[in-house]
Amino acid sequence: QTPEGRTVDVCVVGGGQSGLATAYHLGRVSARREREGLPALRTVVLDAHDRPGGAWPDGWPSLELFSPAAFSSLPGWPMPAWTGDGTPSAEHVAAYLAAYEERYALPVHRPVRVTDVVDAGEDGLLRVRTDRGDWWARALVSATGTWDRPFWPAVPGAEAFGGRQLHTHDYRGPEQLTAQRVLVVGGGNSAAQLAADLQPHVAALHWVALRRPRYLPDDVDGRVLFETATQAVRDRAAGRPVRDVASLGDVVATPAVRRARDERGLVAGPMVERLTPAGARWPDGHEVDLDAVVWATGFRPALGHLRGLGLATERGRPCTVAPDGSPHPVRSSSDPRVWLVGYGDWTGAASATLVGVGRPARDAAFAIGDALRPTAART
Ligand code: FAD
Repeated sequence: QTPEGRTVDVCVVGGGQSGLATAYHLGRVSARREREGLPALRTVVLDAHDRPGGAWPDGWPSLELFSPAAFSSLPGWPMPAWTGDGTPSAEHVAAYLAAYEERYALPVHRPVRVTDVVDAGEDGLLRVRTDRGDWWARALVSATGTWDRPFWPAVPGAEAFGGRQLHTHDYRGPEQLTAQRVLVVGGGNSAAQLAADLQPHVAALHWVALRRPRYLPDDVDGRVLFETATQAVRDRAAGRPVRDVASLGDVVATPAVRRARDERGLVAGPMVERLTPAGARWPDGHEVDLDAVVWATGFRPALGHLRGLGLATERGRPCTVAPDGSPHPVRSSSDPRVWLVGYGDWTGAASATLVGVGRPARDAAFAIGDALRPTAART
């Protein structure tokens, strides 16, 4: 028995930028259906947070976008201009997302954490289990981002290190580590921003990375990362060689990162060989004492709620295919009811960015709309 009020056409899991962009386009699909005399899609967005903004309010106080506001917009409504220094703050993004969901009256329910999705065993429905009761849906869009699944690499000695260890996920600003001896691990934008943020406040800072971080030219901001990621996907699809111009892992020289590099000589050194109880040791044998290690080592897709579906996977993540007419692989290859939006290039070029998620979200929404059309009305 499926309670009537809890059965929907589409359940979107996650109310960050990816879930909102998808819900916006599902609204457009509904409007089209109504013009054709069909009922609107019944849609619900379930979000685990108790406030809007996805992961943006969870970052550290100095977190800023690496792209200007004009290049950080979701579909339909541009991000309002940023009048402060540099690029928009995380707070500005969160306020934009809150206003976005209100502007389009998106059907977000929160806080609701989806714990498990399984086949309902009847009528082709999916059963969506949450900490606030179950829902049933004909299609499910997973848009849960990566913030909830920080990646901690296995470095020898880490378990015996006597100091404090925290991940980007738990970093709330340099006050946490004032006057301490700190190792920052990671070669991407988070590591560069955290190292720059910490450097003036700590007793000693060691920044290490597996490979030397690659900086974008100073006069270039994050928009080039989006453009080259899109081009790389197009080149790959067309069988052309992919040019290694820039990637989303490249460091954007934000004013703070540039100041740390140019005025305070902040550079990343080679990776440590192991942690010791008192600090860290490098392959050449030299050691330092440390009070804390900050792992700025990235995130993995937060997909634990899909485990019960037994989706086909490759390298630990669901295999995805592009729906007809789309270049964006947003549908599970093994369960056509399940869609994935916003996790990175494997779900659409640069889809883990504000500006990049719009197109994959659109293609997922319209393909869902087609899949859920009454058979006779299908185009
Ligand atoms: P999230 O923002 O993480 O939202 C996911 C939502 O899903 C959350 O609200 C969460 O509560 C909810 N959720 C998770 N699991 C469940 C569940 N089981 N049930 C219900 N709800 C759930 N992007 C840019 O475009 N420009 C930039 O300049 C930029 N800079 C960045 C700088 C840093 C340092 C970082 C870390 C990221 C940056 N990004 C940038 C990347 C990107 O925009 C973010 O990662 C973005 O938050 C991804 O949005 P999302 O909606 O996919 O996921």
